[in-house]
Amino acid sequence: MTEITAPITQDVHTIPRKLPDGPVNLIGLTRPQMRDALIAAGTPEKQAKMRVNQLWQWLYHWGVRDFAAMTNLAKDYRAMLAATFVIEVPQVVTRQVSTDGTRKYLVRIAGGHEVEVVYIPEEDRGTLCISSQVGCTLTCSFCHTGTQKLVRNLTPAEIVGQILIARDDLGQWPEPGQGTGENGPRLLSNIVLMGMGEPLYNFEHVRDAMKIAMDGEGIALSRRRITLSTSGVVPEIARTAQEIGCQLAVSFHATTDEVRDRLVPINKKWNIEALLAALRDYPKVSNSERITFEYVMLDGVNDTDADAHRLVRLIEGIPAKINLIPFNEWPGAPYKRSSGNRIHAFADIIYKAGYASPVRKPRGEDIMAACGQLKSETERVRRVRKGEGV
Ligand code: SAH
Ligand code: SF4
Repeated sequence: MTEITAPITQDVHTIPRKLPDGPVNLIGLTRPQMRDALIAAGTPEKQAKMRVNQLWQWLYHWGVRDFAAMTNLAKDYRAMLAATFVIEVPQVVTRQVSTDGTRKYLVRIAGGHEVEVVYIPEEDRGTLCISSQVGCTLTCSFCHTGTQKLVRNLTPAEIVGQILIARDDLGQWPEPGQGTGENGPRLLSNIVLMGMGEPLYNFEHVRDAMKIAMDGEGIALSRRRITLSTSGVVPEIARTAQEIGCQLAVSFHATTDEVRDRLVPINKKWNIEALLAALRDYPKVSNSERITFEYVMLDGVNDTDADAHRLVRLIEGIPAKINLIPFNEWPGAPYKRSSGNRIHAFADIIYKAGYASPVRKPRGEDIMAACGQLKSETERVRRVRKGEGV
Protein backbone atom coordinates (compact mmCIF):
# COMPACT_ATOMS: atom_id res chain seq x y z
CA MET A 1 0.00 0.00 0.00
CA THR A 2 1.33 3.47 -0.83
CA GLU A 3 1.90 5.81 2.05
CA ILE A 4 1.40 9.40 1.05
CA THR A 5 2.99 12.05 3.19
CA ALA A 6 3.71 14.97 0.88
CA PRO A 7 1.63 18.14 1.16
CA ILE A 8 -1.72 18.67 -0.48
CA THR A 9 -2.35 21.56 -2.80
CA GLN A 10 -5.72 23.15 -2.59
CA ASP A 11 -7.26 26.03 -4.51
CA VAL A 12 -10.39 27.57 -3.16
CA HIS A 13 -12.52 29.69 -5.46
CA THR A 14 -15.55 31.60 -4.39
CA ILE A 15 -18.16 31.54 -7.07
CA PRO A 16 -21.58 33.16 -6.90
CA ARG A 17 -24.41 30.67 -6.80
CA LYS A 18 -26.92 30.56 -9.65
CA LEU A 19 -30.54 29.81 -8.94
CA PRO A 20 -32.31 26.84 -10.53
CA ASP A 21 -35.20 28.69 -12.14
CA GLY A 22 -34.77 30.83 -15.22
CA PRO A 23 -33.74 29.96 -18.75
CA VAL A 24 -33.39 26.36 -19.96
CA ASN A 25 -29.99 24.77 -19.69
CA LEU A 26 -28.85 23.17 -22.94
CA ILE A 27 -26.45 20.91 -21.10
CA GLY A 28 -28.07 17.62 -20.15
CA LEU A 29 -30.75 17.64 -22.85
CA THR A 30 -30.83 14.56 -25.05
CA ARG A 31 -30.83 15.18 -28.81
CA PRO A 32 -34.64 14.83 -29.09
CA GLN A 33 -35.13 17.11 -26.07
CA MET A 34 -32.80 19.71 -27.53
CA ARG A 35 -34.63 19.56 -30.83
CA ASP A 36 -37.98 20.11 -29.10
CA ALA A 37 -36.55 23.00 -27.09
CA LEU A 38 -35.16 24.69 -30.20
CA ILE A 39 -38.46 24.32 -32.02
CA ALA A 40 -40.31 25.73 -29.01
CA ALA A 41 -37.93 28.70 -29.17
CA GLY A 42 -38.87 29.37 -32.80
CA THR A 43 -36.39 27.29 -34.81
CA PRO A 44 -38.14 26.05 -37.99
CA GLU A 45 -38.73 22.30 -37.77
CA LYS A 46 -36.84 21.67 -40.99
CA GLN A 47 -33.70 23.24 -39.56
CA ALA A 48 -33.94 21.78 -36.07
CA LYS A 49 -31.90 18.63 -36.64
CA MET A 50 -29.05 20.56 -38.19
CA ARG A 51 -29.09 23.12 -35.37
CA VAL A 52 -28.94 20.32 -32.79
CA ASN A 53 -25.92 18.87 -34.61
CA GLN A 54 -24.17 22.23 -34.63
CA LEU A 55 -24.90 22.98 -31.00
CA TRP A 56 -23.98 19.46 -29.93
CA GLN A 57 -20.54 19.81 -31.46
CA TRP A 58 -19.95 23.17 -29.81
CA LEU A 59 -21.02 21.91 -26.42
CA TYR A 60 -19.62 18.41 -26.33
CA HIS A 61 -16.86 18.30 -28.93
CA TRP A 62 -15.30 21.74 -28.45
CA GLY A 63 -16.37 22.43 -24.88
CA VAL A 64 -17.67 25.91 -25.77
CA ARG A 65 -19.86 27.64 -23.13
CA ASP A 66 -20.47 30.92 -24.90
CA PHE A 67 -23.04 31.35 -27.67
CA ALA A 68 -20.99 34.18 -29.14
CA ALA A 69 -18.20 31.71 -29.98
CA MET A 70 -20.50 29.52 -32.11
CA THR A 71 -19.34 31.03 -35.34
CA ASN A 72 -21.21 28.79 -37.77
CA LEU A 73 -24.53 30.13 -36.47
CA ALA A 74 -26.01 33.41 -37.71
CA LYS A 75 -25.66 36.34 -35.34
CA ASP A 76 -29.38 36.77 -34.77
CA TYR A 77 -29.80 33.04 -34.11
CA ARG A 78 -27.02 33.24 -31.52
CA ALA A 79 -28.79 36.20 -29.94
CA MET A 80 -32.03 34.20 -29.77
CA LEU A 81 -30.19 31.29 -28.14
CA ALA A 82 -28.55 33.56 -25.60
CA ALA A 83 -31.91 35.09 -24.71
CA THR A 84 -33.62 31.74 -24.24
CA PHE A 85 -31.01 29.26 -23.08
CA VAL A 86 -28.02 28.95 -20.82
CA ILE A 87 -25.02 26.63 -20.90
CA GLU A 88 -24.47 25.75 -17.29
CA VAL A 89 -22.22 23.24 -15.58
CA PRO A 90 -21.76 22.71 -11.83
CA GLN A 91 -19.41 25.17 -10.20
CA VAL A 92 -16.08 23.98 -8.90
CA VAL A 93 -15.72 25.15 -5.31
CA THR A 94 -12.47 23.41 -4.38
CA ARG A 95 -9.97 21.35 -6.24
CA GLN A 96 -7.44 19.15 -4.47
CA VAL A 97 -4.57 17.32 -6.08
CA SER A 98 -3.06 14.29 -4.34
CA THR A 99 0.64 13.51 -4.49
CA ASP A 100 -0.27 10.52 -6.66
CA GLY A 101 -2.02 12.76 -9.19
CA THR A 102 -5.58 11.94 -8.08
CA ARG A 103 -7.77 15.03 -8.26
CA LYS A 104 -10.84 15.65 -6.15
CA TYR A 105 -13.31 18.37 -7.03
CA LEU A 106 -15.99 19.66 -4.76
CA VAL A 107 -18.72 20.99 -7.00
CA ARG A 108 -21.74 23.06 -6.13
CA ILE A 109 -25.10 22.43 -7.74
CA ALA A 110 -28.39 24.31 -7.68
CA GLY A 111 -29.79 24.74 -4.21
CA GLY A 112 -26.29 25.09 -2.77
CA HIS A 113 -25.73 21.33 -2.46
CA GLU A 114 -22.31 19.91 -3.04
CA VAL A 115 -21.03 16.65 -4.46
CA GLU A 116 -17.58 15.29 -5.05
CA VAL A 117 -15.96 14.09 -8.24
CA VAL A 118 -12.68 12.19 -8.29
CA TYR A 119 -10.25 11.84 -11.20
CA ILE A 120 -7.79 8.94 -11.02
CA PRO A 121 -4.93 8.95 -13.53
CA GLU A 122 -3.32 5.63 -14.42
CA GLU A 123 -0.63 4.76 -16.91
CA ASP A 124 -2.92 3.78 -19.74
CA ARG A 125 -6.12 5.56 -18.80
CA GLY A 126 -7.78 8.21 -16.65
CA THR A 127 -10.92 7.34 -14.75
CA LEU A 128 -13.48 9.82 -13.51
CA CYS A 129 -15.61 8.72 -10.57
CA ILE A 130 -18.90 10.61 -10.68
CA SER A 131 -21.90 10.93 -8.38
CA SER A 132 -25.56 10.35 -9.20
CA GLN A 133 -27.29 11.63 -6.06
CA VAL A 134 -26.64 13.99 -3.18
CA GLY A 135 -26.50 11.48 -0.34
CA CYS A 136 -28.20 8.09 -0.70
CA THR A 137 -31.50 6.52 0.38
CA LEU A 138 -29.74 3.27 1.18
CA THR A 139 -27.91 2.64 4.40
CA CYS A 140 -25.05 0.26 3.74
CA SER A 141 -23.40 0.00 7.14
CA PHE A 142 -19.79 0.36 5.91
CA CYS A 143 -20.42 3.36 3.63
CA HIS A 144 -20.10 6.91 4.79
CA THR A 145 -22.47 8.18 2.12
CA GLY A 146 -25.02 5.77 3.63
CA THR A 147 -24.96 7.72 6.87
CA GLN A 148 -26.10 10.82 5.00
CA LYS A 149 -29.74 11.24 4.05
CA LEU A 150 -30.72 11.54 0.41
CA VAL A 151 -30.98 15.20 -0.44
CA ARG A 152 -31.95 14.83 -4.06
CA ASN A 153 -31.28 13.17 -7.38
CA LEU A 154 -28.82 14.90 -9.66
CA THR A 155 -30.18 16.16 -12.98
CA PRO A 156 -28.70 14.93 -16.29
CA ALA A 157 -26.98 18.32 -16.59
CA GLU A 158 -25.36 17.88 -13.20
CA ILE A 159 -24.23 14.36 -14.03
CA VAL A 160 -22.80 15.13 -17.47
CA GLY A 161 -21.54 18.44 -16.08
CA GLN A 162 -19.17 16.54 -13.79
CA ILE A 163 -17.48 15.16 -16.90
CA LEU A 164 -17.33 18.59 -18.52
CA ILE A 165 -15.71 20.30 -15.57
CA ALA A 166 -13.12 17.53 -15.26
CA ARG A 167 -12.29 17.96 -18.94
CA ASP A 168 -12.00 21.71 -18.40
CA ASP A 169 -9.54 21.14 -15.59
CA LEU A 170 -7.55 18.54 -17.51
CA GLY A 171 -7.44 20.76 -20.59
CA GLN A 172 -9.05 17.98 -22.57
CA TRP A 173 -10.86 19.93 -25.27
CA PRO A 174 -9.47 19.67 -28.77
CA GLU A 175 -7.76 22.49 -30.58
CA PRO A 176 -9.32 23.37 -33.94
CA GLY A 177 -8.46 20.70 -36.47
CA GLN A 178 -7.82 18.07 -33.83
CA GLY A 179 -10.14 15.15 -33.08
CA THR A 180 -11.08 14.07 -29.57
CA GLY A 181 -10.57 10.45 -30.57
CA GLU A 182 -7.24 9.05 -31.69
CA ASN A 183 -5.54 12.39 -32.18
CA GLY A 184 -6.79 14.31 -29.22
CA PRO A 185 -5.66 13.98 -25.62
CA ARG A 186 -7.28 11.08 -23.76
CA LEU A 187 -6.66 12.03 -20.17
CA LEU A 188 -10.21 11.20 -19.24
CA SER A 189 -10.90 7.85 -20.88
CA ASN A 190 -13.22 6.03 -18.46
CA ILE A 191 -16.20 6.85 -16.28
CA VAL A 192 -17.28 4.98 -13.17
CA LEU A 193 -20.58 5.73 -11.48
CA MET A 194 -19.12 4.96 -8.08
CA GLY A 195 -19.36 8.30 -6.32
CA MET A 196 -22.23 9.30 -4.08
CA GLY A 197 -25.62 7.74 -4.51
CA GLU A 198 -27.33 4.72 -6.03
CA PRO A 199 -27.42 5.29 -9.81
CA LEU A 200 -30.30 2.88 -10.38
CA TYR A 201 -32.51 4.94 -8.07
CA ASN A 202 -31.97 7.85 -10.47
CA PHE A 203 -32.28 5.73 -13.58
CA GLU A 204 -33.62 8.13 -16.23
CA HIS A 205 -31.24 10.95 -15.38
CA VAL A 206 -28.23 8.64 -15.28
CA ARG A 207 -29.30 7.04 -18.57
CA ASP A 208 -29.72 10.36 -20.36
CA ALA A 209 -26.40 11.67 -19.06
CA MET A 210 -24.57 8.51 -20.14
CA LYS A 211 -26.20 8.65 -23.58
CA ILE A 212 -24.77 12.15 -23.93
CA ALA A 213 -21.34 10.95 -22.79
CA MET A 214 -21.46 8.08 -25.33
CA ASP A 215 -22.63 10.18 -28.30
CA GLY A 216 -20.01 9.86 -31.03
CA GLU A 217 -20.23 13.54 -32.02
CA GLY A 218 -19.16 14.77 -28.61
CA ILE A 219 -17.54 13.26 -25.55
CA ALA A 220 -17.65 9.96 -27.43
CA LEU A 221 -16.84 7.53 -24.64
CA SER A 222 -17.54 3.95 -25.64
CA ARG A 223 -20.09 2.11 -23.50
CA ARG A 224 -17.26 -0.27 -22.68
CA ARG A 225 -15.50 2.54 -20.87
CA ILE A 226 -18.44 3.38 -18.62
CA THR A 227 -19.11 1.29 -15.52
CA LEU A 228 -22.21 1.68 -13.41
CA SER A 229 -22.03 0.35 -9.87
CA THR A 230 -25.22 -0.71 -8.13
CA SER A 231 -25.91 -2.06 -4.69
CA GLY A 232 -28.37 -4.47 -6.34
CA VAL A 233 -31.57 -2.73 -7.50
CA VAL A 234 -32.73 -5.89 -9.21
CA PRO A 235 -35.71 -4.57 -11.23
CA GLU A 236 -33.53 -1.95 -12.94
CA ILE A 237 -30.69 -4.27 -13.95
CA ALA A 238 -32.27 -5.54 -17.17
CA ARG A 239 -33.17 -1.97 -18.11
CA THR A 240 -29.58 -0.93 -17.57
CA ALA A 241 -28.52 -3.54 -20.12
CA GLN A 242 -31.19 -2.54 -22.61
CA GLU A 243 -31.27 1.24 -22.25
CA ILE A 244 -27.67 2.12 -21.35
CA GLY A 245 -25.61 -0.93 -22.28
CA CYS A 246 -22.64 0.10 -20.17
CA GLN A 247 -20.52 -2.19 -18.03
CA LEU A 248 -22.00 -3.26 -14.73
CA ALA A 249 -20.41 -3.52 -11.31
CA VAL A 250 -22.33 -4.83 -8.35
CA SER A 251 -21.63 -4.22 -4.68
CA PHE A 252 -21.74 -7.84 -3.64
CA HIS A 253 -19.74 -7.72 -0.39
CA ALA A 254 -21.06 -10.89 1.27
CA THR A 255 -21.70 -14.55 0.52
CA THR A 256 -24.63 -15.27 2.82
CA ASP A 257 -27.93 -13.42 3.05
CA GLU A 258 -27.43 -13.08 6.79
CA VAL A 259 -24.22 -11.04 6.36
CA ARG A 260 -25.38 -9.21 3.24
CA ASP A 261 -28.57 -8.11 5.01
CA ARG A 262 -26.35 -6.34 7.53
CA LEU A 263 -23.88 -4.84 5.07
CA VAL A 264 -26.13 -3.98 2.13
CA PRO A 265 -29.67 -3.77 3.55
CA ILE A 266 -31.27 -3.67 0.09
CA ASN A 267 -30.53 -7.42 0.25
CA LYS A 268 -33.63 -7.80 2.43
CA LYS A 269 -35.67 -6.73 -0.57
CA TRP A 270 -33.70 -8.52 -3.29
CA ASN A 271 -31.54 -11.26 -1.85
CA ILE A 272 -28.43 -12.91 -3.25
CA GLU A 273 -30.41 -15.43 -5.27
CA ALA A 274 -32.59 -12.76 -6.89
CA LEU A 275 -29.56 -10.60 -7.59
CA LEU A 276 -27.60 -13.42 -9.22
CA ALA A 277 -30.57 -14.34 -11.39
CA ALA A 278 -30.70 -10.75 -12.72
CA LEU A 279 -26.95 -10.72 -13.30
CA ARG A 280 -26.88 -13.92 -15.31
CA ASP A 281 -28.60 -12.23 -18.25
CA TYR A 282 -26.77 -8.94 -18.13
CA PRO A 283 -23.69 -9.65 -20.27
CA LYS A 284 -25.78 -11.24 -23.03
CA VAL A 285 -28.26 -8.41 -23.23
CA SER A 286 -25.81 -5.53 -22.97
CA ASN A 287 -22.97 -7.14 -24.92
CA SER A 288 -20.71 -6.30 -22.02
CA GLU A 289 -17.75 -8.50 -21.33
CA ARG A 290 -17.85 -9.31 -17.66
CA ILE A 291 -19.62 -8.16 -14.55
CA THR A 292 -17.44 -6.73 -11.83
CA PHE A 293 -18.24 -8.06 -8.38
CA GLU A 294 -17.11 -5.49 -5.85
CA TYR A 295 -16.20 -6.96 -2.50
CA VAL A 296 -15.17 -4.73 0.39
CA MET A 297 -12.77 -6.50 2.74
CA LEU A 298 -13.99 -6.11 6.32
CA ASP A 299 -11.92 -7.64 9.09
CA GLY A 300 -13.67 -10.66 10.64
CA VAL A 301 -16.96 -9.96 8.84
CA ASN A 302 -16.78 -11.30 5.28
CA ASP A 303 -13.13 -12.16 4.70
CA THR A 304 -12.64 -15.87 5.56
CA ASP A 305 -11.41 -18.58 3.21
CA ALA A 306 -14.90 -20.08 3.44
CA ASP A 307 -16.32 -16.78 2.12
CA ALA A 308 -13.92 -16.84 -0.81
CA HIS A 309 -14.91 -20.41 -1.71
CA ARG A 310 -18.62 -19.59 -1.36
CA LEU A 311 -18.20 -16.52 -3.55
CA VAL A 312 -16.64 -18.59 -6.31
CA ARG A 313 -19.47 -21.13 -6.10
CA LEU A 314 -22.18 -18.47 -6.15
CA ILE A 315 -20.99 -16.70 -9.27
CA GLU A 316 -20.29 -19.86 -11.22
CA GLY A 317 -21.31 -19.44 -14.85
CA ILE A 318 -21.37 -15.64 -14.78
CA PRO A 319 -18.60 -13.96 -16.79
CA ALA A 320 -17.08 -12.04 -13.90
CA LYS A 321 -14.14 -10.30 -12.36
CA ILE A 322 -13.91 -9.73 -8.67
CA ASN A 323 -12.66 -6.43 -7.41
CA LEU A 324 -11.49 -6.63 -3.80
CA ILE A 325 -11.68 -3.25 -2.09
CA PRO A 326 -9.70 -2.82 1.13
CA PHE A 327 -12.20 -1.10 3.43
CA ASN A 328 -11.66 2.66 3.52
CA GLU A 329 -12.06 3.55 7.15
CA TRP A 330 -13.87 6.72 8.12
CA PRO A 331 -14.21 8.32 11.54
CA GLY A 332 -16.73 6.35 13.59
CA ALA A 333 -16.96 3.45 11.13
CA PRO A 334 -18.08 0.20 12.78
CA TYR A 335 -15.58 -1.94 10.82
CA LYS A 336 -11.85 -2.38 10.31
CA ARG A 337 -9.96 -3.11 7.11
CA SER A 338 -8.87 -6.75 6.69
CA SER A 339 -5.13 -7.28 6.99
CA GLY A 340 -3.01 -7.32 3.85
CA ASN A 341 -2.28 -11.03 4.37
CA ARG A 342 -5.96 -11.86 4.67
CA ILE A 343 -6.81 -9.92 1.52
CA HIS A 344 -4.09 -11.71 -0.41
CA ALA A 345 -5.13 -15.15 0.85
CA PHE A 346 -8.72 -14.35 -0.21
CA ALA A 347 -7.55 -13.07 -3.60
CA ASP A 348 -5.50 -16.19 -4.11
CA ILE A 349 -8.48 -18.51 -3.70
CA ILE A 350 -10.43 -16.52 -6.25
CA TYR A 351 -7.52 -16.37 -8.65
CA LYS A 352 -6.98 -20.12 -8.45
CA ALA A 353 -10.65 -20.62 -9.28
CA GLY A 354 -9.95 -18.85 -12.57
CA TYR A 355 -11.14 -15.29 -11.90
CA ALA A 356 -9.23 -12.06 -12.15
CA SER A 357 -9.14 -10.73 -8.59
CA PRO A 358 -7.45 -7.33 -8.58
CA VAL A 359 -7.15 -5.67 -5.20
CA ARG A 360 -8.13 -2.02 -5.60
CA LYS A 361 -5.13 0.16 -4.90
CA PRO A 362 -5.96 2.99 -2.56
CA ARG A 363 -5.58 6.25 -4.47
CA GLY A 364 -5.73 9.83 -3.31
CA GLU A 365 -5.68 8.81 0.35
CA ASP A 366 -4.15 12.12 1.41
CA ILE A 367 -7.20 13.95 0.05
CA MET A 368 -9.82 11.42 1.24
CA ALA A 369 -10.76 10.64 -2.33
CA ALA A 370 -11.56 6.96 -1.77
CA CYS A 371 -14.83 5.11 -2.30
CA GLY A 372 -17.32 5.54 0.47
CA GLN A 373 -15.49 8.49 1.96
CA LEU A 374 -16.81 11.14 -0.34
CA LYS A 375 -18.17 14.22 1.34
CA SER A 376 -17.11 13.22 4.83
CA GLU A 377 -13.84 15.12 4.83
CA THR A 378 -15.46 18.07 3.15
CA GLU A 379 -18.02 18.28 5.91
CA ARG A 380 -15.30 18.02 8.49
CA VAL A 381 -13.24 20.79 6.86
CA ARG A 382 -16.29 23.00 6.70
CA ARG A 383 -16.96 22.51 10.40
CA VAL A 384 -13.36 23.39 11.12
CA ARG A 385 -13.62 26.50 8.95
CA LYS A 386 -16.71 27.54 10.83
CA GLY A 387 -14.78 27.05 14.06
CA GLU A 388 -16.98 24.18 15.25
CA GLY A 389 -14.11 21.73 15.70
CA VAL A 390 -13.89 18.25 14.25
N1 SAH B 1 -24.29 3.13 -4.69
C1 SAH B 1 -23.53 2.39 -5.59
C2 SAH B 1 -22.31 3.13 -6.14
C3 SAH B 1 -21.51 3.97 -5.19
S1 SAH B 1 -20.42 3.21 -4.06
C4 SAH B 1 -23.11 1.08 -4.98
O1 SAH B 1 -23.32 0.89 -3.81
O2 SAH B 1 -22.63 0.23 -5.71
C5 SAH B 1 -19.04 2.56 -4.99
C6 SAH B 1 -18.41 1.33 -4.32
O3 SAH B 1 -17.71 1.68 -3.11
C7 SAH B 1 -19.45 0.30 -3.89
O4 SAH B 1 -19.03 -1.00 -4.19
C8 SAH B 1 -19.52 0.51 -2.40
O5 SAH B 1 -20.04 -0.60 -1.76
C9 SAH B 1 -18.07 0.80 -2.08
N2 SAH B 1 -17.84 1.43 -0.78
C10 SAH B 1 -18.67 2.24 -0.09
N3 SAH B 1 -18.09 2.62 1.08
C11 SAH B 1 -16.87 2.04 1.12
C12 SAH B 1 -15.80 2.07 2.05
N4 SAH B 1 -15.87 2.79 3.16
N5 SAH B 1 -14.69 1.36 1.75
C13 SAH B 1 -14.59 0.66 0.60
N6 SAH B 1 -15.58 0.61 -0.32
C14 SAH B 1 -16.70 1.28 -0.07
FE1 SF4 C 1 -25.61 4.11 -1.11
FE2 SF4 C 1 -23.77 2.66 -2.48
FE3 SF4 C 1 -23.16 3.76 -0.10
FE4 SF4 C 1 -24.84 1.69 -0.22
S1 SF4 C 1 -22.64 1.68 -0.80
S2 SF4 C 1 -25.14 3.57 1.02
S3 SF4 C 1 -25.93 2.13 -2.10
S4 SF4 C 1 -23.68 4.87 -1.97
